[in-house]
Amino acid sequence: MIFVTGGAGFIGSNFVLDWLAQSDEPVLNFDKLTYAGNLNNLAALKDDARHVFVRGDICDGEQVLALLREHQPRAIVHFAAESHVDRSIHGPAEFINTNINGTFALLEAARAYWSGLPEAEKGAFRFLHVSTDEVYGTLGPDDAPFTETTAYAPNSPYSASKAASDHLVRSYHHTYGFPTLTTNCSNNYGPYHFPEKLIPLMIANAQAGKALPVYGDGQQIRDWLYVSDHCAAIRRVLADGRLGEVYNVGGWNEKANLDVVHTLCDILDSLKPKADGASYRTQIAYVKDRPGHDRRYAIDARKLERELGWRPAETFETGIRKTVQWYLDHPDWVADVQSGAYAKWVETNYFNR
Ligand code: NAD
Repeated sequence: MIFVTGGAGFIGSNFVLDWLAQSDEPVLNFDKLTYAGNLNNLAALKDDARHVFVRGDICDGEQVLALLREHQPRAIVHFAAESHVDRSIHGPAEFINTNINGTFALLEAARAYWSGLPEAEKGAFRFLHVSTDEVYGTLGPDDAPFTETTAYAPNSPYSASKAASDHLVRSYHHTYGFPTLTTNCSNNYGPYHFPEKLIPLMIANAQAGKALPVYGDGQQIRDWLYVSDHCAAIRRVLADGRLGEVYNVGGWNEKANLDVVHTLCDILDSLKPKADGASYRTQIAYVKDRPGHDRRYAIDARKLERELGWRPAETFETGIRKTVQWYLDHPDWVADVQSGAYAKWVETNYFNR
């Protein structure tokens, strides 16, 4: 069994679905179900005994340790986090709590569990920490992409809290010999992405006839990776990554935000033309830039490619088309998230059956 934290969120739920599509090894999915956790993403696994869901907070080390001892996982894959930069600017406290204190509590519980394992199982155990490229700060237009040795320079409360958690994970390997692996990935996109994030927000607003808000001049550059490629990278690192190492994960897809929005509008224009024939681009509205907005992120993923043979399966062009199509095919999922109905669905289907 593997123990996944945050497996009801965007990347975590994609990871759990991909994992169980490719393996019969069960998953214990431990998630607090904050606003970002949506078990509806995992509806296909509702009656699947390989998926054990437990609602809980990673800050509760005692609960985590009891579950680890009960279920004896061979690995922990740690996704749980507060993840939205804008929310971290308006209210950083929860980011410090979950991302720093929560990762610390999780590490302590995991270390206690791991120390008690028989030698052979101890040697095989892995703790994989899922992190972000935002810890490296911002790049100038001509700077080389981030490598695993780029100095940390986080600029938002979100990235600072993730940087702190990365350092804690690193220290547990160096101090205790705890078997850690860390991945720092670029921006993900794909199915089940909460519609507060750029790509799903634009798709939803475009169809609703609302403004498509673009921060500042829209020239902030991000490196985009289709979510199942990130999940595949995590599986590769978990299987064969070298202990204590960090692996950058990215798709070599640097795009300015405005270009992403234009691409989404163009795909929607072809897949779901407006009745009046106008382009969705006419809905673009420039809004005041986010404070401290990083200008450019770019990932050098050559270590992961060279050492573990990982390559993204999707280009930006194929992945973004699939993503738009997924949102067009799942209007109910978006409507449930926007109305909050997904939380009620969870109560009915999981906790009051
Ligand atoms: P998300 O916000 O969609 O999901 C986070 C999940 O964690 C939710 O299910 C939430 O309920 C759960 N959670 C939050 N606090 C918790 C707590 N205290 N205890 C237990 N569960 C808790 O996030 P995501 O976009 O899926 O990101 C997952 C991880 O990947 C995060 O660690 C994030 O930093 C990292 N990451 C994300 C991206 C991206 O583009 N989304 C890129 C690189 C790295």
